[in-house]
Amino acid sequence: MAESVIKTLLHSEALQQYILDTNVYPREHELLKQLRTTTFEKYGHRCELSVPGDEGMFLSMLLKMINAKKTLEIGVFTGYSLLTTALALPNDGEVTAIDLDREAYEVGLPFIEKAGVAHKVNFIQSDALSVLDRMLSQAEEFDFVFVDADKSDYRGYHERVMRLLRIGGVVAYDNTLWYGSVAKGQEELPEFLRSRAMEGVGSYFYKGHTAVVEFNEFLASDPRVDISQVPIGDGLTLCRRLQ
Ligand code: SAH
Ligand code: CA
Repeated sequence: MAESVIKTLLHSEALQQYILDTNVYPREHELLKQLRTTTFEKYGHRCELSVPGDEGMFLSMLLKMINAKKTLEIGVFTGYSLLTTALALPNDGEVTAIDLDREAYEVGLPFIEKAGVAHKVNFIQSDALSVLDRMLSQAEEFDFVFVDADKSDYRGYHERVMRLLRIGGVVAYDNTLWYGSVAKGQEELPEFLRSRAMEGVGSYFYKGHTAVVEFNEFLASDPRVDISQVPIGDGLTLCRRLQ
């Protein structure tokens, strides 16, 4: 069962399980449940890439609260956050979703179709930065942006998103507490984050850690946005464009 993989920053796994059992699983859309299970079956522990159910519900609530109509998602994987978004948008809303990986998106597509929200989804297979540059030249404007691709590109996304978001619009950056490691000194990092020289998975975690720490510091000093660091999932930073 996909529910067996629990990613949380809470110091009590029992508390996270309580949150999921009491108000996430009873409310989670049937097709989101099925997509989570399929993602786990296909990708094993990589299903951790998908936002957890409680974070999905938070994003859905936020989209509805700001009456988002036109949104952007950078980093789709199998589409858990994308389907969440498409379900939260009004019938004439649109989410443009960018990912290099079409194969993973196609794992989720049948669930988006079955949920009856495929007409709200515009998927673009590409490196995100080049799509954002094209959107800038076309003066596109979004109410909400969810950023969840390569952490070392967050700074580059931010500069572009600041001009693509309407004033008062919100951008949410995912994984900004990076397994809780951001508060730790180099010597305290768990082995998988410490091994700078390690190739593959090790360097992914290490580079992510450095990128996220630098990005958090940068955001805190950016006068263009209000910010709020929300400790849900792996950390979600909300920024509201001021000017
Ligand atoms: N938001 C998804 C999970 C995304 S995982 C969810 O919560 O369900 C991160 C994704 O970012 C991966 O699918 C990866 O292919 C994509 N990605 C990484 N670097 C990218 C880039 N430069 N441009 C576009 N997508 C990228
Ligand atoms: Ca994520």
